[in-house]
Amino acid sequence: MRPAIGIDIGGTNLRIGVAQGTTILYENRFTADFSSICKQHSPQFAWQEILRLTMGAVQDAVSHHPEVKSIGIGFPGFIDPASGRIAQSPNLPGLRSVDLAGDLTELLRLPVVVENDALVAAYGEYLLHGEPQKSLAYIGLGTGVGGGLIHAGKPFPGDHGIAMEIGHLIVDPGGRPCGCGNQGCLEQYASASGVAISYEKLSGKYLPTALIAELAKQEDALALQAFRQAGISLAMGVAHLIKILDVENILIGGGLSQAWMYMKDAFQQQLDHDLIPVLKRKNRIIISQSGDKGGIIGAAYLSAGHH
Ligand code: ADP
Ligand code: MG
Ligand code: ZN
Repeated sequence: MRPAIGIDIGGTNLRIGVAQGTTILYENRFTADFSSICKQHSPQFAWQEILRLTMGAVQDAVSHHPEVKSIGIGFPGFIDPASGRIAQSPNLPGLRSVDLAGDLTELLRLPVVVENDALVAAYGEYLLHGEPQKSLAYIGLGTGVGGGLIHAGKPFPGDHGIAMEIGHLIVDPGGRPCGCGNQGCLEQYASASGVAISYEKLSGKYLPTALIAELAKQEDALALQAFRQAGISLAMGVAHLIKILDVENILIGGGLSQAWMYMKDAFQQQLDHDLIPVLKRKNRIIISQSGDKGGIIGAAYLSAGHH
């Protein structure tokens, strides 16, 4: 396989790499708070910013690896499989039916493939660690909560590109408002932003989630409670997922997964409680060790036409 550019766009981070198969030849990371840009500016301005930062990252990668012939991008939104357009993005509000693949192909003169960020990460993790005979469900705990399923060795986008939207399973009817327009969605509790909201509700203070993790390390009771809440909510969603799919390997990644030790016990307890006996303890919950390289590898691989 030819080296290809893989990009993992998130609400908070843009990761880019040049990958050949599962080997990363070049890697860079840009902190780009697209989520705030979308909340504070017009959709047109936000879109130009996303294009500008993505273009800049690509140009840097191309200057190191001029031999690349394709670009794959994981984007946090619902991608319409018929048109390739991004229909909507709960964490990048305001964007509607934008054509990232089309706009970038025109600007860069390279073929660009765009897929849902979590589906791309699922594929990358599958290439790195998957068992060919088994499905793999990936759950990304980042700015939001995304999910992707690999079934029979292939990404499973669903009929409308929206399969595995586990972040929008409702775990608390009538609960916290969500960027998708609903209330009480899992991602309002079990994402990095969700933990910050939980901590703020408990303490009256808004802190970055990495700092709340530091407090948890010092056994701060409110910080620990915010992470426990995330663990419980995540387990509710994962129990639904297991009951529907009977998938054995569940891989958890994303920035918040670095704080898994504070979520783990509450998660396991709630999962044991919610699962029906025949499904109990049949799963492997795996915390990603790839440092989120999965998104880059999956995106690059998909763009090179290997799906
Ligand atoms: P996205 O894909 O949405 O950009 P990431 O998966 O990159 O998100 O995760 C970024 C988020 O992870 C940050 O918003 C931050 O709050 C959170 N984060 C970073 N480090 C830690 C940590 N050590 N513990 C908990 N959360 C963290
Ligand atoms: Mg991400
Ligand atoms: Zn939602």
